[in-house]
Amino acid sequence: MKIASVQDETSSVKSFAFRDRLCANGEPGQFVMIWIPGVDEVPMSLCELRPDISQAAITVEKVGEATGALHKLKIGDTLGVRGPFGNSYTTSKARNVLIVGGGTGLASLAPLTERLVKQKVRVTLLIGAKTRSDLLFLHRMNQLLSGDRSQVMATTEDASYGLKGLVTEPAQKILTRSERFDMIYTCGPEKMMHKMFALSEKFNVPFQASLERFMRCAIGLCGTCVIGKYRVCRDGPVFSGGQLREVQNEFGVFRRGFDGRKIAF
Ligand SMILES: Cc1cc2nc3c(=O)[nH]c(=O)nc-3n(C[C@H](O)[C@H](O)[C@H](O)COP(=O)(O)OP(=O)(O)OC[C@H]3O[C@@H](n4cnc5c(N)ncnc54)[C@H](O)[C@@H]3O)c2cc1C
Repeated sequence: MKIASVQDETSSVKSFAFRDRLCANGEPGQFVMIWIPGVDEVPMSLCELRPDISQAAITVEKVGEATGALHKLKIGDTLGVRGPFGNSYTTSKARNVLIVGGGTGLASLAPLTERLVKQKVRVTLLIGAKTRSDLLFLHRMNQLLSGDRSQVMATTEDASYGLKGLVTEPAQKILTRSERFDMIYTCGPEKMMHKMFALSEKFNVPFQASLERFMRCAIGLCGTCVIGKYRVCRDGPVFSGGQLREVQNEFGVFRRGFDGRKIAF
């Protein structure tokens, strides 16, 4: 694919759009394998789905070799794209939902939020980051949820914007306030998702989380991304609370490296 546009989101995050009918028709939560020729192939969530113009996009945080090489690419440069892969968030039973995102987790939660708004679902969206400049998609989400039924709240660890602290803290307060949600969706650091899972169990709210694991094949063969009996690439990346209960000894505890060894979170 030729890169159609490049957008700076934060100092370490850029979005790259490309024209592809299959990806543009992907579902919120699905991901693609992005091949940077001569460097590596890495999984990235579809952060924009525009079937009307056959365009899709990924949002990439620069953390290492492949993402560093991706950040150097410009409009017109070529990327390899395999996918879309994996399952997606389910939204059929949603009426009033809580969405909790941290870091690049917003990449998969943004198209989900767009889908829910189209379905006239009431959304409470909590976005967390270390500092104000790291809050991803704050403007896009504020515009999307500007109606009086939905709301966006932000937290920063250094109090530079919104509430001070971790995003799970206002989530806990909101759930304690006896407001009845029919789904919690989350994507972000696994410790954050694990805390949200515990809250969903405590308050008895259905739960969906999109997990990250190291991936190679993305088609269920190599086993790198296993969590318990599941392969995150084929059975996920979105898992329900019931599924995560089955893999409690791994979820939030460790993932596996490319050599199969456990890496603690
Ligand atoms: C289904 C899925 C969807 C993803 N969506 C996005 C997205 O939308 N945007 C985004 O920026 N990233 C996303 N990631 C994470 C992304 O794939 C990794 O950040 C990327 O592979 C790192 O490659 P690298 O060569 O730059 O880093 P490396 O040089 O391989 O590693 C640098 C650092 O990043 C960590 N890292 C490497 N791979 C992963 C991984 N899979 N998960 C977590 N940490 C990792 C390593 O532990 C190391 O500390 C997703 C991962 C999965 C599995």
